[in-house]
Amino acid sequence: MKLYLKIVAFILFLTGSAFLINMHFSGLAVSEAMSAQIADSAAMVAADQALSFQKAFVSGKELDGIKALHTFAQKTGAVYSGLVTADGTVIAHTNVALTGTKMKDQLLIKAAKTSVPLFRRVLHGGDEVVDTIIPVPAGLPASAEDILFQGADAVGKSAGFLRAGLPLTTARKAERAILYKLLVLALLISAAAIVLSAIFSSVILRQVYLLREGIRKARAGNYDFLVPVISRDELGEVTESFNKLNRGLSETTVSKEYLDSVLESMPDPLIITDEAGKILKSNRAAEDFSGYDFLPPGSMNLKELLEPQTEGAAEPFALLSWGGHIKELDLWFKSKDGKRLPVMLSAAFIGGVGSRQVVSLLKDTTRHKESEAKMAQYLKEVETVNDELDSFAHTVSHDLKEPLRGIEMFSGMLLSDYSAKLEPQAADYIARVVKASGRMRRLIDDLLSYARVARVRNPYEYASTAALAREAVAGLSVMLEERKAVVKVSDGLPELFCDPVKIRQLFQNLVSNAVKYNDKPVPEVEISAEKFGEYYWKFLVKDNGIGIPSQYFEEVFKIFKRLHSRQEYGGGTGAGLAIVKKIAEEHGGKIWIESEEGKGSVFYTLIPADLSKRT
Ligand code: ADP
Repeated sequence: MKLYLKIVAFILFLTGSAFLINMHFSGLAVSEAMSAQIADSAAMVAADQALSFQKAFVSGKELDGIKALHTFAQKTGAVYSGLVTADGTVIAHTNVALTGTKMKDQLLIKAAKTSVPLFRRVLHGGDEVVDTIIPVPAGLPASAEDILFQGADAVGKSAGFLRAGLPLTTARKAERAILYKLLVLALLISAAAIVLSAIFSSVILRQVYLLREGIRKARAGNYDFLVPVISRDELGEVTESFNKLNRGLSETTVSKEYLDSVLESMPDPLIITDEAGKILKSNRAAEDFSGYDFLPPGSMNLKELLEPQTEGAAEPFALLSWGGHIKELDLWFKSKDGKRLPVMLSAAFIGGVGSRQVVSLLKDTTRHKESEAKMAQYLKEVETVNDELDSFAHTVSHDLKEPLRGIEMFSGMLLSDYSAKLEPQAADYIARVVKASGRMRRLIDDLLSYARVARVRNPYEYASTAALAREAVAGLSVMLEERKAVVKVSDGLPELFCDPVKIRQLFQNLVSNAVKYNDKPVPEVEISAEKFGEYYWKFLVKDNGIGIPSQYFEEVFKIFKRLHSRQEYGGGTGAGLAIVKKIAEEHGGKIWIESEEGKGSVFYTLIPADLSKRT
C-alpha cells in the first residue's frame, strides 16, 4: 500500500472513530437532557396539582387519586401514572389493576433517598417513555425561594410519589434534529480532515517521491544528478545525505556501461562464472575464440570446457578454491568445433560471500606453444652442432698434435745434429720452423683446453670457493714469486654447488692475467665475493695492472683475441678469458669488466647461488 494512502486511511480511521464516539456520547447527552426536561415539566405540572395529590394520599382513596392522575395525564400526556406511598404501595394508578400492589425497583429505592424528580427511559408497550418519579410533598409545596435558601429540606417530607410514564414524541423530533446537525457537522469535519491530510501528506511526501526517483536512477547506474532538497526537515537531511553519497559514488564508481565496454574491448577471452563454473557472462573475444555464444546465461559450464595439459593434474576450479586464485595455468580448451586449444588460465574470485563469482581470463597460447616448440627444436640443433664442433675441435687439435710433434722433433734434430753442415740461412729457416711449430702447439693446446670446458662435464658438488681460489693461487706460486705478486683471498667467499675443477680454473686464469698484465713492481690481486640480489653471488678479481681500454671490454673474451704483440707481457694465445667466459656461462652466470687504463681492472663473475635446484 502506498504511503500516501496509508496516511489518508489512518486519518480516516482517526476521524471516523472520533465521529462514532462523538455521536454516541452526544446521543446519550441529548437524550439525558431531553428526558430531564420532560421530567422537569411534568414535575412543574405535578407541583401545580400538589394539593390534589396530597389529598389523595391523606384520604387514601383510589378515586381521589384517579381524578388527580386524570388531570395530570391530560396536561402532560402521560401514558401511565400512579400514586405510590413511601413504602411502595400503589394507592391509585391509571392501570387500575396495579392499585393496592407494591412497587419495589431501583428507581423507587433511589427516589426514597432524595426529594428531586428522578427519571429513566423505559419501553412501554413498544414505545420509549420517560419513567419519572416525582416526590409529592407532605405539606404545602415549597416555593422556589424556599428551595434556594433551604435546599432539599425546604421540600419537607414527601407524602408519596407520583410515578408517570411521559411520552417522548415531541422530544424525539428535537433530539433527531440535534443529532442530525451533529452528524452533518462531524461529516464536514471528517471530509475537511481527509482533504487536509491528503494535501498535507502529498506535500510531505513530495520529498520522498523525489528521493525515490533518485534511488531508481542510482540503481540503474546513473550517479550524475542531485535530488532537489525541498523540505528543511529530517527528510531534507536524508536527501542531502543521499546526494553526498551519490556524489561520492559518481567519483569512485565506474559505470556499468564503462565496465562492459572495457570487457568487450579486451583482446583476450574473459569469462565470468558462478562458483560452480556456470558461465554467466563473457566478452566478444571469448565468443570468437571458443565459437560459443554462451547463451542463455548459466546454460554452459566452464569446467566442462577445460582440461589439464598434464595427466592427473588437479582440476582448475579445485585449485582456485584451495588457493583463492589461479595464475597462468596451462590448460586445454575445448572449442565448439571440437578442437583442443592451448590456453593459459588466470582466475580469481569477485564479490562477497554468498554472491561470489569467478572471473577467468584465458590467454590463447597456440602461437606461444608453436614458438616454444620451434625454440626447443633450434636449441637441440644448436646443442648438437655445438657438441659436434667441440668434438671436431678436440679431434682436429688432437690429431694435429701428432704431425706437429714430428715437425718439431725433426726440425729440432736438424738444428742440433746438422747445424755445422747447414748454411746460416738454412739454419735460420729451420729455427723459425721450430718456433712456429712451438707456437702452433701452444695454440692447439689452448684450443683443446677451450674445447674441454664444454666436452668434459665434471659432477657438480658443494665446494668452498675460498678453498678453490686458494688452490688456484697455489698453482701459480712460481709465477707469483717471480713477480713478487701479492694475492689476497678475502673472507666471505661462499660455498657453491658447482663444477669445482672449472671454477678453480676460472680463478687461475683471472689471477694469472691480473699478474701478467701488470707493470707495477708489486702486482696486487684481491679475490672477493658479495651477494648479488637474492639469487646470485658476484665474484670480484681486482688488480692494479695496466687496465683495458673500454672498447675491448667484450672483445677480450673472444678466443685467440689478444691486445698485445706475441712477445709482450709474457706472450699467450688469447684463449684464457674465452675459457673463463665459457665456464661462467656453463654455470648459468655472466662475466664483465670494469677497468681504468694504467690503474687496474676488476673482473666480475656472476654465478647463481643455488645451482642444486637447476634442472
Ligand atoms: P692471453 O692472456 O693468452 O693473451 P686472455 O684471453 O687471457 O689471453 O686475455 C686476452 C687479452 O685480454 C690479453 O691479451 C690482455 O690484453 C687482456 N687482459 C686479460 N686480463 C687482463 C688484465 N687483468 N689486465 C689487463 N689486460 C688484461
